[in-house]
Amino acid sequence: MQYSQIARRTRPSGIRAAQTERPDMISFSKGHPDPSLFQVPRLQGILDALLSGNGAAEASLQYSTGAGIEPLRREICRIMQERGVGCGPENILITNGSQQGLFMSAMAFADPGQHVMARQPVYTGALQVFQTLGLSVVEPDAADASPALLYEIPNFHNPTGACLDLAARTALVDQVHRAGAILIEDDPYGLLRYEGEDLPGLLAIDAGRDSIETARTLYLGSLSKTVAPGLRIGWVVGPAAIISHLTDLKYVQDIQSGTLVQQLAAGFLKDDFNGATEAARSVYRDRRDALLAALDTRFGARGGWIRPEGGFFIWVELDGGIDAAALLRRAMEKGVNFVPGSAFGTGGRFASHIRLGFSHSDPADFDRGIARLAEAHDDLIVG
Ligand code: PMP
Repeated sequence: MQYSQIARRTRPSGIRAAQTERPDMISFSKGHPDPSLFQVPRLQGILDALLSGNGAAEASLQYSTGAGIEPLRREICRIMQERGVGCGPENILITNGSQQGLFMSAMAFADPGQHVMARQPVYTGALQVFQTLGLSVVEPDAADASPALLYEIPNFHNPTGACLDLAARTALVDQVHRAGAILIEDDPYGLLRYEGEDLPGLLAIDAGRDSIETARTLYLGSLSKTVAPGLRIGWVVGPAAIISHLTDLKYVQDIQSGTLVQQLAAGFLKDDFNGATEAARSVYRDRRDALLAALDTRFGARGGWIRPEGGFFIWVELDGGIDAAALLRRAMEKGVNFVPGSAFGTGGRFASHIRLGFSHSDPADFDRGIARLAEAHDDLIVG
């Protein structure tokens, strides 16, 4: 079959290697939130009310506005305000998850062959977007590159778990203005901080210099990690003129995000969001601590890692240049998995890194899981 250039450039996710149906697998491979945190009765109550009210058919099941329903955009404004970004509904586009916001923002501002500046390792879903669009990923220190786009996850990076310090945030905003480019701030984990102080986000810094209308930063938010990814609710925040253009692009793709699910999200954000994120922080903080403790006692000197202050991931560098793909094969035989670091780099980089996700599995299994991983590691050294 003769596929188009764009279809030929699309690559499967590097995360596939770790996928398994094996029921006894202790999995550190996922970036999924824990479904026991999904507030099912509350969501059901909101849905019931939406579908039983007068005029429900027209209000909830009809087409609505392309940018997203206004009550939801107003709720998002409130969340953004708390994160230091003053904005109105005209600055918000509701997307089908933040992945759509990422694809549309990159598509809107970069043509095939242009450069996107991103620190590696990079979130696989972003790498896939850049590859599909024919963009080349360059490192921040590439002297000759003049990027059309800069991409950053400033809070609790996927996969490294790290946060960008304030000086680096300010420097990025300076750089994007100097380059006349667009900075994509991808922030699905920003509200999941377990310790330490919040730093201002990139759009907050950018808009704070003059106004959001002169900013060159597009902020991507998501309910996937804090409420439920199956809702597919994300948002882009930026200058109203850019949001209007992106709304046209979204119309071409899928007309609008679902009306009913947007109403459900708006209802949930109004009364339940703060409680839900608080509960999530508490559960994930304990899991992070459990995984750090398991690494300390079971994995020890086999690798080095940083303690993430939030998010879902711990990034481990294996000592002695152990090949993470070989380790994964051996580990899966022993009933434990993870994502090899090469999924997050170009040109075979991070072959000796692994990403461990602690959000989705039972922390009672962490110790056993890391003990299996240590065994798999030692088998490779010996054998
Ligand atoms: N950006 C990052 C850094 C992510 O980790 C994810 C989810 N894995 C996304 C974007 C996409 O999330 P969603 O489309 O579900 O909002």
